[in-house]
Amino acid sequence: MSMRVRSILKGFKPYSWETSPVEVVKKFGLSIDKILRFDTNTMPLIPKENIEEFKSAIQNIKINEYPDPSYMELREALSNYLKKDVDEICITAGCDEALDIISKVFVEPETNVIISSPTYAMYRIVVEAMGGRIVEVLRKKDFSDDVEKIIEIVDENTRMIFICNPNNPTGNLTPKNDIIRLLEDFPEIPVIVDESYAEFAGESLIKFTSDYENLIILRTFSKAFSLAGARVGYIVANAKTIKILNIMRPPNSLSVPSLTLANIALKHLDIIRRNIEYILSEKEWLMKAFKNIKCIEAYPSYTNFILVRFKDLNVHDVYEKLLRHGIITRNVSDMPMLENCLRITVRTREENSFLVENLKNICYG
Ligand code: PMP
Repeated sequence: MSMRVRSILKGFKPYSWETSPVEVVKKFGLSIDKILRFDTNTMPLIPKENIEEFKSAIQNIKINEYPDPSYMELREALSNYLKKDVDEICITAGCDEALDIISKVFVEPETNVIISSPTYAMYRIVVEAMGGRIVEVLRKKDFSDDVEKIIEIVDENTRMIFICNPNNPTGNLTPKNDIIRLLEDFPEIPVIVDESYAEFAGESLIKFTSDYENLIILRTFSKAFSLAGARVGYIVANAKTIKILNIMRPPNSLSVPSLTLANIALKHLDIIRRNIEYILSEKEWLMKAFKNIKCIEAYPSYTNFILVRFKDLNVHDVYEKLLRHGIITRNVSDMPMLENCLRITVRTREENSFLVENLKNICYG
């Protein structure tokens, strides 16, 4: 390449994109409505009532204008929902933009950031893009974080510690006291707690942001709120910390329709709660079904997805065979500790049954 790109791009390992449904359709001659996404950890349910409300709201939207730069309407709605002050909330274009903002604020070349591996791949990417170095602390055998090791490895160049809670892709929770210990041992190091799936776990550290300035919590509307396509997320932290993060917040990254959709969703928390209950009961159903398939080991999960390991089968074959039936799963088998593993999103009963039937055919066929 003759253009002068940043030297960091040499050998940079980009995010491995989710499988494209359009490509699967082309490759296997399927119709697009036969594609089932078990790979993105999104909700299979779209609240109809919310869409109706959105249809009438959109008629009055001033789409010729930029959004309100303070995003105050959504911050006030979130303030009600979270019982936090509006100054403790920063709206972002999905949790991924929050990751971008925090790495621009905290990471400099030659500094390091600790992750508890395996975990969400974007942490590495945003840190390395800023010239930082990732230090991976391998999880224990049961996927719990090796907190002793994390504490031991922190040095004067450490700029952040990431805790994904519950963790993607392993589905487990970090005990609250482990996170508090990090916050107290290292008051100068931001501890980023990614709570993208917290609504499914029913546990959160949000109330502690008043006590710890170094606690930064990331949230999203992409999972429990059924709004992945709208790209809305937010950060909850101490007001002093939010002020610092706002220095790097870009203007106008959220669209007015997206903000409207998030506001509508927060008005109908009963629907969200009902959908979460449904997914949690479907997860139990899937776990039981997996237990009865002998080539599958399923790990317990506090989220809307399940990590499974295949015994006596090649995971790439399983992945491909499922794909032929329009079932897209996430192949995570190249991640540390996850040899022969797929990550599977919990969907509706009909779709989950279709998946189980196909897995049985692959295992016993
Ligand atoms: N964090 C975790 C742990 C995730 O799994 C995801 C989505 N895959 C994100 C952040 C990004 O979420 P968003 O859609 O809000 O950008």
